Amino acid sequence: MKVERFEILVLGSGAGGKLLSWHMARSGRRTAVVERRWIGGSCPNVNCMPSKNEIQSAKVASLLRHGAEYGARARGVEIDMAAVRARKRAMVDGQIAAHLHAYQTSGAELIMGSGRFVAPKTLEVRLNDGGTRVLTGDRVFINVGTHAAIPAVPGLEAALALTNIEALELDYLPRHLIVLGGGYVGLEFAQAYRRFGSRVTVIEHGKQLMAREDPDVSEALQRILADEGVDFLVGPELTRVEGRSGKEVTLVVRSPAGEQRIEGSDILVAAGRVPNTADIGLDKAGVELDTRGFVHVNERLETSAPDVWAIGECAGSPQFTHVSEDDFRIIRDNLVGGRRSTRDRLVPYCMFTDPPLARVGLSEADAQRQGLDVRVARLPMSSVLRAQTTGEMQGFMKVLIAGRDDRILGFTMIGPEAGEVVATVQTAMLAELPYSRLRDAVLAHPTMAEGLGPLLSNVPSPAE
Ligand SMILES: Cc1cc2nc3c(=O)[nH]c(=O)nc-3n(C[C@H](O)[C@H](O)[C@H](O)COP(=O)(O)OP(=O)(O)OC[C@H]3O[C@@H](n4cnc5c(N)ncnc54)[C@H](O)[C@@H]3O)c2cc1C
Repeated sequence: MKVERFEILVLGSGAGGKLLSWHMARSGRRTAVVERRWIGGSCPNVNCMPSKNEIQSAKVASLLRHGAEYGARARGVEIDMAAVRARKRAMVDGQIAAHLHAYQTSGAELIMGSGRFVAPKTLEVRLNDGGTRVLTGDRVFINVGTHAAIPAVPGLEAALALTNIEALELDYLPRHLIVLGGGYVGLEFAQAYRRFGSRVTVIEHGKQLMAREDPDVSEALQRILADEGVDFLVGPELTRVEGRSGKEVTLVVRSPAGEQRIEGSDILVAAGRVPNTADIGLDKAGVELDTRGFVHVNERLETSAPDVWAIGECAGSPQFTHVSEDDFRIIRDNLVGGRRSTRDRLVPYCMFTDPPLARVGLSEADAQRQGLDVRVARLPMSSVLRAQTTGEMQGFMKVLIAGRDDRILGFTMIGPEAGEVVATVQTAMLAELPYSRLRDAVLAHPTMAEGLGPLLSNVPSPAE
């Protein structure tokens, strides 16, 4: 079969891969991208954007229900999941069109099909509309992403549980949604469906929700969501599943207190992600994987095969769109002689519950693990004047300052606009401003960021 040669060949059109392809094509390089399903990758199709879109519908429902507290009484709230889905689909369609336009105008060829390596830097692509193409690239970039893990629990696979993909396509309201996993994907869906009107139970087998956050953060979040009526089982192990999601399901969990059966109607699995690296011939390409199946890369995202890079989640990068995009920038700059690395990047994140949780830099547990001497200050959101105006006073801000100098080491916030406020602190951290500069900045009143002033005024003096 004829082998078609490209200068740039990208497998998977994820966040970083598509940016790389457009950049390279616009720079005049012959570029092809192989994508099996999602034009533009997971973020605009089945992950970030559609989930935040439906979360906004759930927020509107919640505001309507609480309208009377603001003096705006609404008579009953009726949820139309088909309309929620239609709104989401319209946004996704717009995103797909925008991506197709970018492929077209950049000159990168988008090839819809499943790719697997058959030799170093060479892909065989089974085209979605029939036929096969064999492509080789002078430089090859792997950006194949991950998929939802289905834990090996008896009966779970047969129960045909929802993942994020199916949950975002529901046109009915689950009577009782059981969410497996208390990480950010699980909690965002749990609150949204509770607000739509489902009964929701979250089962988290670890010792707390949001495993990487400090216990005070996890406890506050659980309290906030429980106040909205989300039920939690934290700690028990899921031992068996009976029935079929969408109909009737029974989940059997075991804890030191004994066995418990939870009856529900639907299951959503949000229990971690598995890289899409199996069965794509990486051994034939000389690309090594780590023990968990992620592509083994160095800090420049180079794989074990010459002229082959990996980008985003499949490379083990933190699982966020903005990181996949930064992976692209690292590779782009290094290809023209730069010396950028994935080491020490300051990666913020935001979980879009309401209120959201956002963090940049270290948690208290991180600081402790690293043996760092830190000063910690907190401020309840009820002390932030803007929160008093909007009536959103749950949560808190917390900052970590270096024990002996005034560097900001970390900032966590559960509160309205947390994702925006975190960007302010991140900017100060990037500029290496002492915390006192931010404390004494004139911030607009009344904004959520204004709370940084009183928060930072609470920082204790360095220990003698
Ligand atoms: C429900 C949910 C919500 C999320 N929300 C956020 C959020 O709010 N903010 C945030 O920053 N991150 C969020 N994320 C994570 C974020 O979506 C990803 O980190 C981001 O999309 C980057 O992914 P990527 O570039 O690694 O690959 P992806 O975007 O997943 O792209 C990989 C692409 O490769 C294709 N592919 C795989 N194998 C092959 C093959 N063999 N042949 C051809 N094509 C192939 C896939 O179809 C896919 O399109 C969320 C994740 C989930 C699950």
